[in-house]
Amino acid sequence: MENLRKQDPELMNALNLELQRQRDNIELIASENIVSEAVLEAMGTVLTNKYAEGYPGKRYYGGCEHVDIAEDIARNRAKELFGAEHANVQPHSGAQANMAVYLAALKPGDTVLGMNLAHGGHLTHGSPVNASGILYNFVAYGVDENTFTINYDEVRKAAFKHRPRMIVAGASAYPRIIDFEKLGQIANEVGALFFVDMAHIAGLVAAGLHPNPVPHAHFVTTTTHKTLRGPRGGMILCRKAWAQAIDKAVFPGSQGGPLMHVIAAKAVSFGEALQPSFKTYAQNVIDNAKVLSESLIEHGLNLVSGGTDNHLMLIDLRNLNITGKDAEHVLDSVQITANKNAIPFDPTSPFITSGIRIGTPAATSRGMGTDAMKTIAEVIAMTLKNPNDEAILAKARGMVQDLTAQYPLYPTMKY
Ligand code: PLP
Repeated sequence: MENLRKQDPELMNALNLELQRQRDNIELIASENIVSEAVLEAMGTVLTNKYAEGYPGKRYYGGCEHVDIAEDIARNRAKELFGAEHANVQPHSGAQANMAVYLAALKPGDTVLGMNLAHGGHLTHGSPVNASGILYNFVAYGVDENTFTINYDEVRKAAFKHRPRMIVAGASAYPRIIDFEKLGQIANEVGALFFVDMAHIAGLVAAGLHPNPVPHAHFVTTTTHKTLRGPRGGMILCRKAWAQAIDKAVFPGSQGGPLMHVIAAKAVSFGEALQPSFKTYAQNVIDNAKVLSESLIEHGLNLVSGGTDNHLMLIDLRNLNITGKDAEHVLDSVQITANKNAIPFDPTSPFITSGIRIGTPAATSRGMGTDAMKTIAEVIAMTLKNPNDEAILAKARGMVQDLTAQYPLYPTMKY
């Protein structure tokens, strides 16, 4: 960082502050993670200089023979990781990947059945303020009012009622296993295409710890930066029959030149995910989430659906008399980073909410185990129960500082 430090101290200051924040805080945002230094290094390379519109072997620019190697490594590793017939690693983000799937498979106005956003679905699954909801006729299935889990019989009923061209599965705030086989069968019964957005759980799927949607779906998208622990970006997996349409929908359909330095970093992270050590990591993510959820319940907190099967959980704050917005704020004040989140059937607005979403991928990457999770649960409970008690908040902050000192982040990195 010598050059950057000398040339642009103003920006360097922002980088330093962010590194320090990541070191000082326990990151519980379920969609975030901490990448390896090898992944960081791949992103900071000369590959950022290269225009490479097109695909390996068929580019619109000269001089692409070496970036072709990087993209082929990424595509082949992605296919191997998930058992997919085709991979497109060019989407700049998860949202871009989803829009490319819609562009490849739908016509404007087509009906799509997706998970209710207020029950855990994502913005790109038909929100009226997102292009998906503007261009296509989204109808929703949700979770059961009693169990807060997907009621597959209701999904089937909705599918027969609406006869969608496509069914979308996948979520941003769903703590339970999703039965992709069953949803795929429903899609089959009504002659719909089946699309799974596995952004949150991709790392668990790669490790074989969550059912893999690839055998059941026509299209599977993911972000690469959540449980999969790669650089910020997106990816599409599909069957051979759809490969050409998907590639066309990404470029030239919805993107220009690919970010080759990010694709190189995707290749590095997929290589990491193919190692046995990644399976151990993903198992630790799940074990940590289990212990964290059980400890929170022991402290009297309520969790949507009563717990978790994956890397995340949703705390229902209504019995604590604190809103999601205030809970996010007070947790931040004790150096725990989380985000407010609507709970299913939330009586408050999306800007206030009655829930907090937390997850274990980043804390697990930092090396924290189940003992640390018990401490984190205690800190969360004492903070949310006493948001105005400065002495308790100071104690909570001290407990967080003990933990972050025990599990240093990027210990040799100097900005
Ligand atoms: N799909 C799901 C299920 C997500 O949770 C997210 C992001 O949180 C996305 C897609 C969008 O990813 P990105 O922010 O990279 O566009």
